[in-house]
This record gives sequence, structure tokens and C-alpha cells, in this order.
Amino acid sequence: MHFYTRRVIFAHLFVIAGSLAAQSGPSQPLPDLGDSSQAVISPAQERKLGEATMRQVHASGAYLDDPEVNAYLNSLGRRLALSTTSSKQDFEFFAINDPGVNAFALPGGFIGVHTGLILLTQNESELASVLAHEISHVTQHHIARMISGEQKNQLATLAAMAIAVLAARSRPDAAGAAIATAQAANIQYQLDFSREYEREADRIGFQVLDKAGFDTRAMSSMFERLQRSFRAYENNAPNYLRTHPVTYERIADATNRAETKPYRQVADSRDFHFVRALLKSYQGTSKDAIRDFESSLAERKFNDESATRYGLVASLLRDKQLERAAKELAVLEQTAKPSAMIEAMAGQVLAQSGKRDAAIKRYQAALQRYPNHMQLVYDYPDALIETGQHGAAVQFIEGQLQRFPNDARLHQLAAKSYAALGRKLQQHAHQGEYYVRLGNLRGAIDQFELAIKGGDGNFYQISTAESRLRTLKQDLADQGKEFGKLAAQNFRP
Ligand SMILES: [Zn+2]
Repeated sequence: MHFYTRRVIFAHLFVIAGSLAAQSGPSQPLPDLGDSSQAVISPAQERKLGEATMRQVHASGAYLDDPEVNAYLNSLGRRLALSTTSSKQDFEFFAINDPGVNAFALPGGFIGVHTGLILLTQNESELASVLAHEISHVTQHHIARMISGEQKNQLATLAAMAIAVLAARSRPDAAGAAIATAQAANIQYQLDFSREYEREADRIGFQVLDKAGFDTRAMSSMFERLQRSFRAYENNAPNYLRTHPVTYERIADATNRAETKPYRQVADSRDFHFVRALLKSYQGTSKDAIRDFESSLAERKFNDESATRYGLVASLLRDKQLERAAKELAVLEQTAKPSAMIEAMAGQVLAQSGKRDAAIKRYQAALQRYPNHMQLVYDYPDALIETGQHGAAVQFIEGQLQRFPNDARLHQLAAKSYAALGRKLQQHAHQGEYYVRLGNLRGAIDQFELAIKGGDGNFYQISTAESRLRTLKQDLADQGKEFGKLAAQNFRP
């Protein structure tokens, strides 16, 4: 399901154009940072609003649940965030599975990038330029300033949406209505950063891009690329985008800024090319993907040969051509520098070929070398579970949960292993923790009630579960109050 319509795809990056611009009149000077805006919505409230919106993104199916893609976006994003003046701001970057070209900032530092945009970029600095722009919307408090300004109603819609999401969680039949509301709210939301804010995000974003050591010419080249891609969609583009020359202004501003900086040759990270190859392998049919990678390799038309072969292996795996996948992987391993993504791919090729014991050995060795590569952290216990080694799986997962206590997928894997071992209290407690991280407090409460009734925990485990249940019930009550207050503050019909 595509959560964002094509109209929205165009909306954000080019929001400054046409009718909106015509309505907004002469520019008003921007208020100082940290002024009255902070009184209307606190950073903590903003974060909660962002978390609620993220739950909606997860529930919509638009979120690309790929640990390697998201880990890459986060490492690139964090590198940029370190070059801002707001080092205290938390950021979370994630991919939206959508061929359209868009990126957006949600309240609380959550930044989404469409896979179509990642594939459109031709070098890492171009992708960084888009993230830097979105990061700047966050560090300049554009969302909080929106609420305190004329666009208060936009956030009221967002708050209403958060309430709808919470309502949907407690009454599953309301889910459809909530998604519809959220969709409407999101479209509104993305449309309404003002022209001033867009300019400011471009200007500050440029500084961030420069300070983080990327090629500053990438900002204008990315704008040009976006403009060309929008032209290709001309028939679907909203009128004002086709007619309004303002995009040229943004390109010119970015070009002028880059001219003040010395020429800088910046090499792309290898992960950039590997992640793009992985995303390409997901696109269209697997047969088409295989053909594309094969012809790139045959004609030697690529930016990075290893990444191209990696994409071929990923496409072959998707097409279930396991023998050929293993063969191409062997070539890749001989020619490419070692990498965690190749290790994870190798494990998957072995596991899917039914060589589970070999896969397990491979994962164990890979985890020694890349203990923080989440794809490996998930795939290893998965392989253990597949071979019925539930005790070993539980032991590994519990160890990882010490390091990553907030990781939803680890809790889900733990629930699966404990279920196989017939340990009801642990199964339901972990399923409950999994639901907590998805924002489904209602579901989590049900699971903890089942955990306590399971009848197999010791006194200490049961009282821990009981105390967790009490906290969750309190959280659910507080959540309702929090958003109710927010809506009451900001909603003036
Ligand atoms: Zn923007």
C-alpha cells in the first residue's frame, strides 16, 4: 500500500512554488529560535507526536523494514547531524518503500526518505544534500514554529491524527478510519512548510553539507535531477509545479553558494552503492532486475563493480536461483573487499539453499567481525530457530537484548523461540514488549495479562510482569491525556 500519493511526492521539496507562494505575500522576518514556539509545544511533546506518527507509518506498510538500508541512512544522517549546532536533537532516519521521489521531516527528528529518491541520486553527496535540508527543518524548529504561528491548524490536524491512531489501537475496527485521517493529515502536513522555511532549510542545509565534508555542488545537481525527474511525470504534476519558475531560484541559490567554496572531490562510501544496488534488486520483477545487473556488468557500465555484482546476487536470491546466486557470490567474495553486507548475503544464500549448518557457522564468524550489523544479529537466531535450536536462539537473543533493549525485532524473535520452548510467561512478555515498541499498548497489556496467567513463571518473574503491566496501563492512560491536551491547546475550529 502506498501511503503517499504522487501529488505529495512533488509537494514537499518544491513546496515553495505557485499558489502557496502567491498567498503568502511579502516575507516576514523569521522569529528567533527558541522563542514563544517552545511554549506551545515542548520538545518532549514534539517527540511524542513524532513517535505516534511513526507508528502510523509502520502500520501503513509504507515503512521499508530493511535493517541494512535503514542503518545506512542513519549512519549518513548522523554524520550530517554531528555538523549541526543542535547536537542534543535525536534523529531517526528511515526509508519509505515508494518509487516516488520525496523526503520529509516529521515532528521529533524522524526523517523519511523514499526509495525512489535514493535511487535517483547519483552520488552520496546528493543524498546527503537532501538529508541536510530535512535535518535543518528539524534543527530550525520549523515544526514548533509552525504551531506557534499561523499554521497552528496543521498541527491540530496532526494531533487529531495521533489521537485517531491511539483510538484505532484500542478499537481495531476504527483502524481504517484512522488511516484515512492520517493520510489526509500527512498530505496537509507535508504541504505546508512555508516558503521562508524552505529557503532557510536550503541555506542551513548547505552549511551542514559543507561542514560534514560532502561535495557542496551536490545540492544544486540534486535539485536539477529532481526537476528533470518531475518533468518526466509532467502529466501528473500539479499545475503550479509545472508553471512556476521558483525551482530555478533554488538551483541558482545553491549554485551560487557552492561557488563560494573550494572544489572538493568526495569519494562515495561503498555502503552507498551497496544500498542502492539492494534497493534496485527489490524493484520491478526479479527477472528484470537480474537482466539490468547482468547488462551493467557485461558492458562495464557501473559506478562500483562490487555493488553491481552484489545487486545481481540479491536479485538472483529474490528469483530463487540459488545455484547461480552462490556462483556469483563466490566471484564477489574473490573480488570485493570484505563487508558486513556481503557476509549477511552469504548467510542468506546458504540458509535459503538449505545449508543451514553452514549458514550458522558463517553467521557466527561474521558476528565476531561485525557485531553491530543488525541484519546478522537477526538472521543468525532466525537460522537457529529454523534448525530447532531454540535454546541457543534464546541465549543469543537475550544477550543481544542487553545491548539493544529497545529493538522490536529481537523481542519478536525472543517470543518465537520461547513459544517453541513452551515457556508461556517469557513468550507473552516478549510479545508484549514487541507491541510496546510498535506503539500498540493495548496489545501489550493483553500479552502481559496472558504472561501472568501462563502459570509457568517463578515468583520473581510473575511480580516483574505484574509491575510491567501496571506501568503499561498507566502509560496508556497518560498517552490519552497527553494528546487530548495537545489537541485542546492547538485546535481552534
Ligand atoms: Zn523542505
